[in-house]
Amino acid sequence: MRLSEVVGELSSTALFVDYDGTIAPIVDDPRMAHPAPGAIDALVRLCGLGVRTTVVSGRPVDFLATMIASAGVDLIGVYGLERVVGGQRSEVAVADELRQLMASIERDAVARGPSGMTVENKGMSITLHYRQHPELAADVAALAAWLGTRWSTDVRRAKQSIELHPQVDFDKGSAVLELAGNESSVVYVGDDEGDVPAFGALDVLEGSGLSVVRVAVGSPELPQLLEALADIVVDGPLGVVEFLTG
Ligand SMILES: [Mg+2]
Repeated sequence: MRLSEVVGELSSTALFVDYDGTIAPIVDDPRMAHPAPGAIDALVRLCGLGVRTTVVSGRPVDFLATMIASAGVDLIGVYGLERVVGGQRSEVAVADELRQLMASIERDAVARGPSGMTVENKGMSITLHYRQHPELAADVAALAAWLGTRWSTDVRRAKQSIELHPQVDFDKGSAVLELAGNESSVVYVGDDEGDVPAFGALDVLEGSGLSVVRVAVGSPELPQLLEALADIVVDGPLGVVEFLTG
């Protein structure tokens, strides 16, 4: 199945793709997560065909911009708090306050976390990773629960990691709703729990008459809920590249 086969007109399509696990294979060191071969070329080509193309991630836009140096592709970072749209960078008003909160949680997590757990400050969310030490799962869960209570954040399970999110009304779904624009077809491609709200946004858009396609990225770690909600499941990041090409 290819993108061009599932939407009416490419030139009236908005395409949203997640980054980690979707166009970039998941690796042990998150800083080294580079796009899959052909992924950026595929996105650039779609931009040239008139597809409004956006990468939506929990990562800061600065990271996304270093990995996706292409003017035509819009970037949404930190679940909608940071963005580069049409080459213009912006962020929401509460961003600074939230950044200070995240720095406090990061300090706490580093000070109290078990040895072997790694702490990633994504700018406006914190991820506690235990991919390299699965035996730490219970300890990391306990720490996340403690941090969540202390700093009043949401605690979300993700792949071999737990995320702490400030309680604000931003997620990938609100970003999609805001940026879907006036296109007649909207496609979202994602691989993890954080993408469930984006599929929910597509339900809303479908209800208002748009044609939508929910694409999940298959892997042994694909959450059952995301798979159940998907219209199409492709095989890993290379399957995503294939879906976007041709
Ligand atoms: Mg992902």
